[in-house]
Amino acid sequence: MASWAVIKRLYECTSVDPDFARDLASDTRTVLERIRVDIEADEAMELIGKMSIADRSENPYFGIYLPKAKRIGEETDSRLERDKYVSRDMYEVGRITRNRMCVENRLIRLHNNIRYFPIVFELARGCSVGCPFCGFDAPGLSGLFRYTDENAALWKGVLHAAKEIIGEAAVTGACYFATEPFDNPDYELFIKDYHDILGHIPQTTTAVAERDPGRLKAFISSMEKSEQENAAIRISIRTKEQFYKIMSEFSPEELEETELLPNNPESVNRYSLSGRARQDGADGVGYSISCLAGLRVNMTEKSIVYEEPEIPCDDFPTGERIYDKVFFTDERSFKEAANRLMGECASAEIKNDDMLLLSHGVSVKTDGNKAVFTGDASELTMTGDNMFIKSVSMLTQNGISLTEIGDRLGVSGFVLEMIRGKMQMIHKGGYLRRIPEKYFKIS
Ligand code: SF4
Repeated sequence: MASWAVIKRLYECTSVDPDFARDLASDTRTVLERIRVDIEADEAMELIGKMSIADRSENPYFGIYLPKAKRIGEETDSRLERDKYVSRDMYEVGRITRNRMCVENRLIRLHNNIRYFPIVFELARGCSVGCPFCGFDAPGLSGLFRYTDENAALWKGVLHAAKEIIGEAAVTGACYFATEPFDNPDYELFIKDYHDILGHIPQTTTAVAERDPGRLKAFISSMEKSEQENAAIRISIRTKEQFYKIMSEFSPEELEETELLPNNPESVNRYSLSGRARQDGADGVGYSISCLAGLRVNMTEKSIVYEEPEIPCDDFPTGERIYDKVFFTDERSFKEAANRLMGECASAEIKNDDMLLLSHGVSVKTDGNKAVFTGDASELTMTGDNMFIKSVSMLTQNGISLTEIGDRLGVSGFVLEMIRGKMQMIHKGGYLRRIPEKYFKIS
């Protein structure tokens, strides 16, 4: 019986290379040697055949992969529960963002692993790789945060501060975003501190596994097998040639807990039409690749950005709404700046001066005492009195505040509070945005 490592490798070959099954059938021994799989030709062919079985419990790959993915997903979810956040607002922002993205794009609803994290860290400025499908349109590499004594002290201070102001949920923050983790020669040292302070090894996705295979092997094997599964080490496949180089450099067993993400043009996957992949006529999915609704900390620049995902469009080509960017010099100023940004931007509650706007693509129709909000693949029906229905008809994608709604309707006090309560429900369902007035024009 073939091992998980072998089954996984054969499945990856079929995902990355549409000609793989044909090539395997015509010259089985050569192909198996090329991908370092040591099983009988007949068994390999039988496994490949079974990988198209629709009943996933009978499918040799999905029968193992799905329970694994479920276990890892539950582990990640447990790190994002309410008691892992200091701030109720940051917790709610992650959940509301998820609801909104499901309202804005029907394909997101198909992913049961979509989550929005409160913080990420970048240990470089820009990226050396230049993938043509880069959803963030990352600029070229222009700076690295090296592990000097001074920088190590700042890094540890920032991690302690992140844990203090966000809570244990800070441990979900990857140490890359629009960057390549292994551009930084000291990545592993920073990850060791992260593990010591936050108690977990963060997700690592590299697009250059073939650049220094020995380094990646050492990184993977520095963890126990059980740790590797939860550390979510992933390799992005840029090209078919790179894929086969990786197949020859790494044995199936060395990558048995490392996920491969097929991003090469021939693969079965489709890109997010965001950033550099956002071209006329391109085929892809119309949602952001960003999994951040919170703080993006760049250690090289010593900057913090607060941002939330958006459907990629002319206003938000990389699928990110940037609220503000501030700078810090030490742990204290990091804490002050991060707290200020979270206080101003991350609120679950609608404030009087917040700009309220229908989520991307959402329309609303009113009929009698009913208002029906329609998203990409879902609806929300709200009922209310005349004032509520009138307030709903003032909502557009251009923004209006509760104060202005109250002024136009000539209401305040209890009536306005009633309208706020209903708007709050629509907001939590993901059909209505709230943008702090101060940041409304910034995008
Ligand atoms: S996709 Fe990742 S590795 Fe590729 S250019 Fe963008 S940030 Fe760099």
